[in-house]
Formats: sequence, C-alpha cells, structure tokens
Amino acid sequence: MKILIVGTGYVGTTTGLIFCEMGHQVTGLDLDTHKLKALKAGKLYFYEPGLEELLSRHVAAKNIFFTKNTKKAVKENDIIFICVGTPKEADGSANLTYVKNVAESIGKYMNKSKIIVTKSTVPVGTAELVEKWVAGKQTAPIPFDVVSNPEFLREGTALQDALNPDRIIIGATSEEARNVMKELYQDFHCPIVATNPKASEMIKYAANSFLAMKISFINELARLCDDLNINVNDVSKGIGLDQRIGPQFLHAGMGFGGSCFPKDVNALIQTAKEQGQPLSILERVVKVNEEQPLYFIEKIKQALGGKLENKTIAVLGLSFKANTDDTRESPSLILIERLLAEQVVVKVHDPIVKLGSAYQYHTIEETVSGADAVVLGTDWDDYKNLDWANLKLTMKQPFIFDGRNMLDKENIVALGFHYLGVANH
Ligand code: NAD
Repeated sequence: MKILIVGTGYVGTTTGLIFCEMGHQVTGLDLDTHKLKALKAGKLYFYEPGLEELLSRHVAAKNIFFTKNTKKAVKENDIIFICVGTPKEADGSANLTYVKNVAESIGKYMNKSKIIVTKSTVPVGTAELVEKWVAGKQTAPIPFDVVSNPEFLREGTALQDALNPDRIIIGATSEEARNVMKELYQDFHCPIVATNPKASEMIKYAANSFLAMKISFINELARLCDDLNINVNDVSKGIGLDQRIGPQFLHAGMGFGGSCFPKDVNALIQTAKEQGQPLSILERVVKVNEEQPLYFIEKIKQALGGKLENKTIAVLGLSFKANTDDTRESPSLILIERLLAEQVVVKVHDPIVKLGSAYQYHTIEETVSGADAVVLGTDWDDYKNLDWANLKLTMKQPFIFDGRNMLDKENIVALGFHYLGVANH
C-alpha cells in the first residue's frame, strides 16, 4: 500500500519505518526543512536507539522518501496517517491546530477516495471534527474515511514498541476502512481491538492516565514511607509482584514528565470537565506530580542544613527519562529551575541532551568536581556504575541525592557519602 505519514517527529518517523519493514512504500511529509534535510540523508535528527539504522537502510532502498510538497503527497497516497503534535493549551486541553491544518490540506488536495488515520493523540470527538474539516475544504464530493489508530510507543524503546505492540486499536465507522486497517497490520502478532473512533480516542487517554496514576500513587505513598522510615522500593516490589497490579510504573522518583503523560492527563481532565463529569482522581495525579520535585528539593535543603544559597549542586541527567533526548516537562529541568531560583550554583551533565548553556559540562568528572552535592536527575545507565570513590575526592561535600532511586544505597554509604533517595531507606 502507498502510505503517507504527515509529521515526521518521534511517532511519524517510527511509524513510517515500521510500515517500510512490512513492505509498504512510505512518504514522510513535514514542513520543517531542517528535519527533512536530515531524514532525506538517512540521518535521525533526534535520539532514538536503533532507529537511524532502519532509516538509512530504507532511505537507501527507496522504500521511504521525504517531502514538504503537501499537494503531491496527498494526491499520490491512499492511506494518510496524521502524526503531528497536539500540544497542551494553557487550560490543559489539546491544541488541535496542527491536526486541523493537515485535515484541511487533505480536503483541499484530495483527488480520489482516501483513508485518513489519526495517530496523533487527540481528544474524544476529533475524528468527527477531522471529517468536518476535510469535507469543508473539498472542491468536489469525494468519499473518504476517518479512522482513529492511536500510538502507544515509548520514547527510548520506540522501535521495539512499534514492532511489538501489546495491542492495536482501530476505531472506524466503516467496515471497509476497518478491513483495510486490519490488512495493513496483518503481520503484527497482537490482539486488534476494533471499535468506533470515540472509544479508540478514549482508550489512548485512559491508558496514559492510568500509567500516570500508578506513578503518582507510588510517589505520594513514598512520602508517607519517608515519614515512617519504610523503603518504598520494597513496597513497590511487594505490590508489583501481585499480577493484578504488575511491577511497571511503580518506581518512586521525582515524578513523570515527557511529551505525553503531563499533556494527556490534563487533556482528559479537560474533556471530563467539559462534560460536567470531573475526573477528580486525575486532578490529584497532576497535583502530586507537580509537588514531587518540590518535595525532593525540600529534602535536599534539609539535608544540606536548611539553606541552599551559594551551594554548588551537580545535576546528572536532563532528559525526562533515560534513552531519549526529550526534555519536555522533564522533572530534572524543573528541579534545576528551582535550584537556580534558590541561588544555587548549578552544574549539569547529560550524555545526549545539549542545553547550550554555560553551566553544562562535557564530562561527569568536570560536573561533579567542587560540588557540595550530586543530584541524579535521569536514570541513564551512564550514571549507574560511576567510580564514586574517586569522584568523592573531588567534591566539596559528600552528598548524593538520588532522585531516581537508581544507586545501590549500601555501596554509596559504605564509601562515606550521605545518601538520600526517594524514601529509599
Ligand atoms: P513531534 O513534535 O516530534 O512531531 C510532530 C511533527 O509534525 C513535527 O516534525 C512538525 O514539524 C510536524 N508538523 C506539524 N504540522 C505539520 C503539517 N501541517 N504538515 C506536516 N508536518 C507537520 O511529535 P511526536 O512526539 O511525534 O508526537 C506526535 C503525536 O503523537 C502527538 O499527538 C503525541 O501526543 C502522540 N504520541 C507521542 C508519543 C511520543 O512518545 N512522542 C507516543 C505516542 C503518541
């Protein structure tokens, strides 16, 4: 099949390449010429393990090509995946401007029947809006279908996730479009949930909100564990082994970030409010998450004698989690901002993210040298087995604040460090 991917970001690029792997001919459409230039050369402009190899291979084999010519791309393809961003508005709702622009372009340039698929995370009811936007720009009444097919990949493991999804959701109103989608995904060995577009759109928000809820649950519980001198990691393990609960997303830390959870939980809250059916449980999930980095900073402050001013703190890790260069809503950046506001001298390091700021250092050694304390902000493997004994010799004071509960506390303490994690007693 000839597939058009509109928006060649994390999701669009990965999706396009997965379809190449399945033997389809793919066109990637974007308006950003810098991104297109890199992609055309087989170079990934963002960090995602394993993806560049696939990109260069399929570019060389001419299975995928990239363009900014919307008119030609729409005309030449039968299935169009909308993979553009749906960022958070000030009130928490999803901004559908990019989706609307794409839908209108499709309507304008459509020359024959198409299946238009929303892969972007969009609020319940968007498929109907897309239908309206497309039809509103048509110059002749050409039939088309709008299908909801949300994406569940995670940055850092995007390739594996997209190749081996737990399930595929197809929200369609016409049997014909549903069958084409099923055929498209025929080589994937996972259940397909066929439903209507509204339920499909809801499934994506419900999944992300549920996972975010698990994280906020364990983080709020960690605060209680802190007061009661209980190791929250033992609690996570103890409850996670219950198959009804599961171990994932139960790791206490500084809270969730990234381009999806904060935005999607807020968007669902907004949808619920608009319906007069508030999801108060999710409102609390957001609040706990906002409080979590502040809670940790307060702990740091107390440990350093109640004053942070003029202390030098080395923060290791900037991305919102390991194996990605995405810093959107990263708890580490929230922490850094707060430390700077408290007149702390901040030094930062990240193996991939480049802030382009004066206080970022190339090596971990340079970053830690002269610091009163080190904060682990991202759970990169690079930070797991450092030579802490030698690093300690270069520090002003031996404090480690483990915002990810990623270090072996006993080893660190045995080296003479003062260690503080998130209820990691
Ligand atoms: P992104 O910002 O990385 O990429 C979006 C791309 O769309 C950009 O390259 C932008 O230039 C392009 N674009 C915008 N308007 C366009 C237009 N009119 N024509 C062509 N291209 C256009 O976004 P992303 O992280 O890939 O996310 C895309 C969607 O997928 C969002 O709704 C997001 O919530 C959802 N999602 C993201 C992830 C993730 O981990 N990033 C996972 C699942 C779902």
